[in-house]
Formats: sequence, structure tokens, C-alpha cells
Amino acid sequence: MNNRPMRRFLILLVLIIFPLTNALAQPPRGKHSVTIDPGHGGGDLGVKISDMEHEKDITLAISSLMKKELDKSGNVWVQLTRTSDRDVSLSERKEIIKKMQSEVFVSIHVNAGFSKNSTGFEIYFPGFKGASSEQSGSKEILKDMARNKYLNDSVKFAQLIQKNMDKVFPRKSRGLRDSHVPALEGLSIPAVVVEIGFATNPVDRKKIVDANTQTAIARALCQSIRDFF
Ligand SMILES: [Zn+2]
Repeated sequence: MNNRPMRRFLILLVLIIFPLTNALAQPPRGKHSVTIDPGHGGGDLGVKISDMEHEKDITLAISSLMKKELDKSGNVWVQLTRTSDRDVSLSERKEIIKKMQSEVFVSIHVNAGFSKNSTGFEIYFPGFKGASSEQSGSKEILKDMARNKYLNDSVKFAQLIQKNMDKVFPRKSRGLRDSHVPALEGLSIPAVVVEIGFATNPVDRKKIVDANTQTAIARALCQSIRDFF
């Protein structure tokens, strides 16, 4: 059998399919690209919530609710770093952000404390510490300006989340935290980590697993994304 036609057909197929899959990774024209990151997954369980649930389940539930909500708004293109219970490495998560040309990144987590008294939500943004480079060449200055712009935008985004989450958990904010968070390092877009509450606190835990509260949290975060744009 002469398989040359077959080979030609396969090459043609690749030529057609490759641009298509590539196009899928581009945000559609006129839409803002957002990456939502359900913390943990697969063998990485995160904090234990109950015998039935771990942090990875809660973060996926809230992230999926957020996608559903944002898909309705029309002008936002949402990607999750995982849509099922699977392991996703830190580098894979960052690769997705880059590939999707995301304009903003939000990572969802559940906190744990040494004592059961710790309660409330926390929002982390990339640290300003060490943000400025020592060199003073024009290239470095431009780089610093770009870096400061997304750091400032991260703070602005974090403040919006604080305002909207405060409606779900009144007076439960533990404030904005400027910190070295591995999930946020090396990104050049506004990015935050939201710790929605403490699995180690009985009152927080009850709220976190409650479907209505999960919906309220998802709505508050989506509102923050819309406010940001
Ligand atoms: Zn976590």
C-alpha cells in the first residue's frame, strides 16, 4: 500500500488543527482574560476540612461557581488552572497564566491556624520588597516601572476583594498582606491569593462548606474582578 496520500492527509490535518488549538488559547477579541486558580488538587489535598472534604474540594467548588458567574457577564474570558481533582504543579499553573494571556490572576485557598481561635479571610499580594533593581540604566527603570504598575494594580485588586468579601464576612478581614507567596512569584500581572477562612476554626469551617456561603464568596470575588476592569 502506498501510504503517501495518508501522510499528506495527516500533514494537512496537523496544519488545520494546530492553528485551531492555538486559537483556543487566545482570549477572544474584546474580552478580558482571567485565570482562576483552585488551590491544591489530586494528591495535594491541602488543609483537611472534614472526613469528607479537603481544601482542594472547596477551592474547586468556589472557582467553578466563579467561572459560571463570570461566563454570564459576557466580557470576561475565564480559565481555571484545573477543572477536576488533579495534581497541577506550580510551574504548570504559571504556564497557563502565560498561555491564556491573563490580565489578572486569583488563587483560592483555605487557611489553617495553630489555634482554633484564628478566624477570618486574608488577601495576599506580591511583595514590594526587593521590587526595585539596583541598576539605574533606562532598561532597568522601565522594568521597574512596569513591575510597580502591576504591583500597584495587585493592591488595587486586593482592596476591591476586601471590600466585597467584607459583605459576606462582616468585620472578618484580617487585612491585606504583602508577602512572598510562591504562587505569585515571577508573575507580571496583577495577582492575589485569597484565603477565604480557617478550616481550624469551627465557625469558619461551617461557613466554608455551606453551599450558600460558597456562592456568596464566588459572587464577591467575581464582583471584584468586574470592578477591577
Ligand atoms: Zn492552600
